[in-house]
Amino acid sequence: MRWALIGASDIAATRVIPAIQEAGDEVYGVMSSSADRAASYASANGIDHSTTSLDELLAWPVDAVYISTTNELHAQQAIAAAKAGKHILCEKPIAINVSDGKAMLQAARENGVVFATNHHIRTSGVHQKIREIVQSGQLGDLYLVRINHAVALPERLQGWRLTGGNKGAGVILDITVHNIDTLRAALGSDIVEVTALAATNGLAKDGIEDTSNCTFRFANGVIANTSECFLVPFNTTTFEIHGSKGSLVATGVMTQDPTGEIVLTNAAGSKTIEVSDRENLYVKTIKQFQNAIAGKGEPLATGEDGFASMQGAIAALKSAKEKRTVQISEVS
Ligand code: NDP
Repeated sequence: MRWALIGASDIAATRVIPAIQEAGDEVYGVMSSSADRAASYASANGIDHSTTSLDELLAWPVDAVYISTTNELHAQQAIAAAKAGKHILCEKPIAINVSDGKAMLQAARENGVVFATNHHIRTSGVHQKIREIVQSGQLGDLYLVRINHAVALPERLQGWRLTGGNKGAGVILDITVHNIDTLRAALGSDIVEVTALAATNGLAKDGIEDTSNCTFRFANGVIANTSECFLVPFNTTTFEIHGSKGSLVATGVMTQDPTGEIVLTNAAGSKTIEVSDRENLYVKTIKQFQNAIAGKGEPLATGEDGFASMQGAIAALKSAKEKRTVQISEVS
């Protein structure tokens, strides 16, 4: 398959271009808002074509587009790509408001293209093992779930994520959105309501949050807490699930790599669960996207999954701003 990149981004250069190539596909061209940047990015990444025009890109002989511009641009670009008959892998959050998200999914449906969201974490072999354990029922009734996803935002990414304007900045649209997807995938349930607190601890500006703590109630009754931060250099991320028959603690798993370990504790004691699938998360995403286009199953994270995580994050932002519990139905 041939791909066009909408957005000359860091994530495309560091993760997605290599993954597309490893999955056997070709990156045909790239679009940037700046002609110089488009050309230098193309040259640095071994890409033959570059443009500043979305219309020109959509006229290229490509099958799919990967959208990794800043968050406010995803919607208009995805809708144009769908209308041009291109399959779409879109970055998270898929949009910065619910109506744009709905319009994107509708455009994909109406034009018969596959729409996938690049929620890489759920694709990890470790997370798939966690899901298997949870859904087998061996943890019993689930009572408490917790994700600790505090990181140090790399200096090279300390731009639009930390400032005001309309680009969809802040830790909630950046990291909480992944945590919501991880929870939905593991629990097999959707968010009903959220209570969130957010803080600005000196990295983000213009009232944008760089730290958050969110509590979600899921439709299956489970309460889950997620903690996110851009300023923590020495944390090991964790994902814990506690039930009546067992507790699962996964360490080093909220990452871009297929790393981490799972310890399961129950009446028989504690044991480390073996995880044999350590395949690159982004390559897995691309391979299943190829399959979905070939009519073999769905993307690992669909457009609907991207919509649900975005909706949960928008509800969390609203909760933090209005200092109250927000029902998901309020942002539908
Ligand atoms: P970048 O800041 O690298 O890229 C976003 C846009 O910023 C680019 O499209 C580009 O615009 C512009 N830009 C980038 N570098 C420069 C520069 N040096 N000078 C001027 N403009 C520049 O963002 P990320 O790669 O971090 O994020 C892009 C998207 O991917 C976001 O939606 C984010 O949420 C998501 N993301 C997803 C991850 C995942 O693992 N799923 C991880 C990281 C990000 P132009 O194209 O016009 O040149």
